[in-house]
Amino acid sequence: MARSWRRCARSRRKRKQARLRHRESRFVNVITADKSRCRSSYRCVRSCPVKAIRIQDGRAEVAPERCIGCGLCVRSCSRQALSVRSDLEPLRALLEAEKVVAILAPEYVAAFHPQQPDQVHAALEQAGFFGVEEMVLGEELVALEYQRLLSDFRGETLIRSTCPGAVAWIQKYRPALVPLVAPVVSPMIAQGRLVKATYPGRVKTVHIGPCPARKIEATGPAVKDAIDLVLTFDELRRLFDELGIDLRIAHGGNGNRQRPLLLKEASLVDGFPREQLENRTMLDNEFRVARGVGDISRLIGALEEGEASARLLDVSLCEGCADAPISWSLSLFARRKIISDYYRHCREASKTQITLEQLRSRLPSVAMARPFEAERIDEEFPPARELTRILGEGGMCDPQQQLDCGACGYDTCREQALAISRGLAEWEMCHPRQRRLLSGLVDRLRELSTTDGLTGLINHRTFTERLEEELHRVERYSKLVSVLMVDIDMFKTVNDTLGHLAGDEVMVAIAKRIADSVRGSDIVSRWGGDEFGVILPETDKTQAFAVAEKLRTKIQDEPLKLLSAGNESELEVTVSIGVATSDGPRTSDEIMTDADKALYLAKTRGRNRTELGGDLPVAPAPEEG
Ligand code: SF4
Ligand code: SF4
Repeated sequence: MARSWRRCARSRRKRKQARLRHRESRFVNVITADKSRCRSSYRCVRSCPVKAIRIQDGRAEVAPERCIGCGLCVRSCSRQALSVRSDLEPLRALLEAEKVVAILAPEYVAAFHPQQPDQVHAALEQAGFFGVEEMVLGEELVALEYQRLLSDFRGETLIRSTCPGAVAWIQKYRPALVPLVAPVVSPMIAQGRLVKATYPGRVKTVHIGPCPARKIEATGPAVKDAIDLVLTFDELRRLFDELGIDLRIAHGGNGNRQRPLLLKEASLVDGFPREQLENRTMLDNEFRVARGVGDISRLIGALEEGEASARLLDVSLCEGCADAPISWSLSLFARRKIISDYYRHCREASKTQITLEQLRSRLPSVAMARPFEAERIDEEFPPARELTRILGEGGMCDPQQQLDCGACGYDTCREQALAISRGLAEWEMCHPRQRRLLSGLVDRLRELSTTDGLTGLINHRTFTERLEEELHRVERYSKLVSVLMVDIDMFKTVNDTLGHLAGDEVMVAIAKRIADSVRGSDIVSRWGGDEFGVILPETDKTQAFAVAEKLRTKIQDEPLKLLSAGNESELEVTVSIGVATSDGPRTSDEIMTDADKALYLAKTRGRNRTELGGDLPVAPAPEEG
């Protein structure tokens, strides 16, 4: 019954997951999962700020509808079971068929350090790129656009973000805030459009940067004209490896590569308008910065509660793209220094006298505005009774069992139950619950391995272990121990005439009588077949004989009522008992052999008797009829 109920719950969960997968096929998935590598540690669930990891049969995969492309799960997985989707295959097709311009995010100088920027450019040309650009002008244009927007802004609050992950979070998880997001493209889109507008003929653009969320951004309907493909630095490294390009010796072109022009005149990192930070102080409440989902969420909460105020919020998932969660070989400080040193050097080496405004007037104009739309995800809240049912399924109805320990990746057990109802999680993720189940299972296995299934008495193996313990005690403390070997007389006849059910009933009843007739400290076992063994610690031969006789007469005097043979049916049963005692160093085999010999003596002397073991003659036992 319980099993079929569990099966039912499991198939309900599977159906729900299949429905979700169908719906999700419309969303871009930038994280791929290799389930064979997943070892169910749920670290990715713990690291995902929006709980976009779905666990099915203990293995992780990403729910694209919920994912904002931050890449934290990839960094958290020590088994590399999750990775950023590779776009090398479409890149190869693009390189074969089209003129492709690579656009490098500024962080590339740190990502490929100590190789020089010139070497990266040369390697890209060797790989077949038609042109290589740096995303500098894009940042400058975006900064100018923000300057213009902010100087005209008369509203209450504006959210500025060039971080596609932060924007995706607002679109999916705070859709009501979408109208507050500044309608400006990111530097990647600006640069892509600029490249397409300035290069002669038709070119394709490939953005190369650290952030997987850019792969989602590039496919947005309002901007998909700008960038044809997004690669991460890791993908670029793999491309170089595949093509056998060694960055250390890469060379190409005429060695007179133009340094990026007009560097950082209007923008700080990520197209942040430099002007915006001038004359700001720490006491300035107009401008607030939040990094990471938790921080952004708290800041927005504080603004909504009136605990804080701000006209301009600058939000992103990381501390700038130099902090993107990929595997860097250098610290964040070192990366930032390398990037700023490089651009400072470019600026100083630049011979051009042209200003940004002058240059902009000569550049083709590209669209810098973009709309953002809410992308509400399906955050179903099941009715309370459904949540209670799910909690019950996990054995969590009792609040005492709800530890809210967070080991599953969810802060509370109720959140975990909610995730289960949404097809994202399963109770097997709950470590305390699994531990509870496991220890119950271990107890059960221990019980099964030590007891006899029919009578509930300990089994032969456990009896022998206990007897050996007693014999050690006898040897060490000069004590006594006696054993009884009890055998049901003519048991075969019971089985043959009344059937095995009746035989089992007799076994159970005799086991109970033996157990009821001895002390709590005595040990009763089913020795095997229709024989029982009893250990009587600290009992001498005379006392043991008396115990055996009391037991034998009790069984003889009280016929058994057999249910299987009809209500009125009574059966007279007798037992024969062999007694053996040890007061010195003996093995369990030796003392049981003595008891066995005494038992056979009782059988040969007419059954329904007790005999004492010791130096007894070995007589053949009579046939049990
Ligand atoms: S990329 Fe970020 S949002 Fe997407 S599943 Fe991974 S951690 Fe979650
Ligand atoms: S007790 Fe289980 S369900 Fe609750 S938070 Fe901990 S791991 Fe998650």
